[in-house]
Amino acid sequence: MRWMWIVLVAVAGGLTGYLVTRFEGSEPTIATSAETVYVGGEHRHVFEIDDEGTGVERVEIRLEADGHSYPLMDERFAGNLLTGASEKGSRSVEVAFDVEEFGLPDGPARLVAEASDFSWRGNVASVGVELVVDTRSPRVSVLTGLTYVARGGSEAAVYRADDDAWHSGIQVGERFYASFPHPELEGYRVALYGLPHDADPNTRPAVLARDRAGNETRIALTTRIVDKPLYSDRIRLDEPFMARKVAEIDPDLDGSPLEAYLQINGSLRARNAERLRELCRESSPERLWEGAFLQLPNSATRRAIGFGVRRTYTFGDRIVDRQTHLGLDLASTARAPVPASNHGRVVLAENLGIYGKTVVLDHGLGVFSLYAHLSEILVSPGDALSKGDVLGRTGTTGLAGGDHLHFSMLVQGHFVDPLEWLDGRWIADHIEPKLQGPPAEASMDPSGPRQG
Ligand SMILES: [Zn+2]
Repeated sequence: MRWMWIVLVAVAGGLTGYLVTRFEGSEPTIATSAETVYVGGEHRHVFEIDDEGTGVERVEIRLEADGHSYPLMDERFAGNLLTGASEKGSRSVEVAFDVEEFGLPDGPARLVAEASDFSWRGNVASVGVELVVDTRSPRVSVLTGLTYVARGGSEAAVYRADDDAWHSGIQVGERFYASFPHPELEGYRVALYGLPHDADPNTRPAVLARDRAGNETRIALTTRIVDKPLYSDRIRLDEPFMARKVAEIDPDLDGSPLEAYLQINGSLRARNAERLRELCRESSPERLWEGAFLQLPNSATRRAIGFGVRRTYTFGDRIVDRQTHLGLDLASTARAPVPASNHGRVVLAENLGIYGKTVVLDHGLGVFSLYAHLSEILVSPGDALSKGDVLGRTGTTGLAGGDHLHFSMLVQGHFVDPLEWLDGRWIADHIEPKLQGPPAEASMDPSGPRQG
């Protein structure tokens, strides 16, 4: 008799366990990003769906907008009510849709995902994602008229972008220059930009504005590129010089002095430029500089050692390297005091590869100056300097032969011709007018938005 009871209890126990499992009450879980999503056209959205009990049976996804509901997906997964889902574990479900296909009006919408499981109770979970449908491109109007910009030179443009634009600036070829609120014109923005020294003649700087939904407006600025004569220069390398520089800059490099030197002149130069671009991403939104930038006192500028000079490096009778010189080499007496060329804040004061002991100043609105090959640095990051304050002394650190100052100007991390910034007349003609209040003749209500 007893064994019959044991079997009965075991079967009842098993059945109870089975029924408990089949009637499980845990809802599926639906995980997705909780942020509001801005959608302008095509959109892909991923939901991670799981059910700890009997497994996921069905997933439905729909778009709700303007009182309508648009089904996007209805998927049933393998399994049955007796044994649950064939495959347990989390499922990744992706929907892709184009709001223009549904003809949705701009405004709020919801993406709703509903999942049910194989439980006999039919547990259902639902998650809504808030969408903002925005198919309109930002409206942009450009205030700056015809502008002459020199190859390797700097310029500025003023424009207005409506509230929809959350990201705007000037695109020049591959480079993007961020904008700042205009200091005088309410609602306008100003961006300084540089034209690469090797820019394609067809390069057209353009205002680029993008909204959160990814809609873009691009309006080409009216610019004329002014060509400048290209200068070239020859640097004769010798082994003692290269050995000395390699020992100073990176003694761990393998190979002959020439091989190590070429690595420094090539890949380290590129890494240093990348570091400077990173560093110059952040700039004071206020203009700190005033008037012309100071040149190292008692120094001369020779065109042959100026900006954009194509340098050919020779060793013996071989050409071993070519680089473009992106600054001015200024020589005075040895260990001459180096003044800050304008008001600004120190953002770098350290040994920087090919530049040796280096100081970089932020002058605001994306404008920076760089002082290299110093023998001594007299300032620290964060220091606020006035035009003329001594920041260091000239020297021969980094890739310098004799004692001199390598002086560079950068706009948002890109090297530009410093001669323009040393010229008060150029600043007055090209930059100042774009930072001033409303010009008398310009209409403050541009003739309506243009899109492109
Ligand atoms: Zn130099």
